[in-house]
Amino acid sequence: MILDGKLVAKKIEAGIRERAKEFYDNFGMKASLHTILVGNDEASKIYARSKLNSLKNLGMDGEIHHMDENSKEEDVINKLKELSSKKDVHGIMVEMPLPKHLKKEKILLNIDPEKDVDGQNPSNLGLLMLGIEDHAPSTPRAVIRILEEYNVPIASKKVCIINRTPVVGKPLAMLFLNRDATVTICHSKTLNIEKITLESDIIVVAVGRPNFLKEEMVKAESIVLDVGINSVNGKIVGDADFNSLVNKVAMITPVPGGVGSVTTSLIIEQTLKNALKQMGKIY
Ligand code: NAP
Repeated sequence: MILDGKLVAKKIEAGIRERAKEFYDNFGMKASLHTILVGNDEASKIYARSKLNSLKNLGMDGEIHHMDENSKEEDVINKLKELSSKKDVHGIMVEMPLPKHLKKEKILLNIDPEKDVDGQNPSNLGLLMLGIEDHAPSTPRAVIRILEEYNVPIASKKVCIINRTPVVGKPLAMLFLNRDATVTICHSKTLNIEKITLESDIIVVAVGRPNFLKEEMVKAESIVLDVGINSVNGKIVGDADFNSLVNKVAMITPVPGGVGSVTTSLIIEQTLKNALKQMGKIY
């Protein structure tokens, strides 16, 4: 069975469209997401523009703040402070990757935690450790949302996550733990990964390598969520060998049309949630 991320995204977007209109009718302004884009990474530019189009189609607003490749750390931080202080800015995110001279952790510390739509401010990551998921990062939430939309049981399942970054693997492990799964995190120094994947009920792969997860690494009943986004000969592919896995496993997400589609809609949904919270309401 293919876990259709586009279908899940459409459902989320239908809810957003309705509530975005209510927000406008009640408060006379649109909920708005502001994205900081530093430098000239082409993929980031395309992603930021497509997010802005989606926001506008859903009755929300936004702006991309494009900063020069050579911007100093304090320039980016000042921009974040300025946006954080504005009442008509409800969501803020910084596109990754940043130019190498900028320290990601220091920059992310300066997003107002209440306006942080991708859960990367350290205080939001810390809250997640305590089981508070209000501002959890969007990609991990997308993985869980897909499983929940398809009524996949998570409690007591053996989960293997191949990624240990603060954007994907670590927060995702917390979300699975909060739902009573038993989680193993793998990374580039893990030995015999296939021994772990073969024993796992749910496998999340986010390595950034096409065809990393192969048929012989999984059991037939497993559920595969492919977070990877790779460009191969101008085509976008994931990290799983989809064509062979789709005939073996119980469920799998495609790329494109899987986790990535849901991630974008959750970022937009989080902007609206933040906006409502800033107005004393709940989504
Ligand atoms: P990253 O920073 O490069 O991290 C890759 C992770 O994979 C690291 O934890 C790394 O281990 C691990 N890894 C690398 N080679 C490995 C190997 N041979 N065996 C086992 N583990 C290995 O990348 P990222 O930013 O987390 O993103 C990962 C992928 O997800 C990329 O393709 C990215 O484009 C995609 N992504 C998708 C979404 C979405 O919404 N769909 C969002 C974010 C990222 P070490 O820690 O040991 O280096």
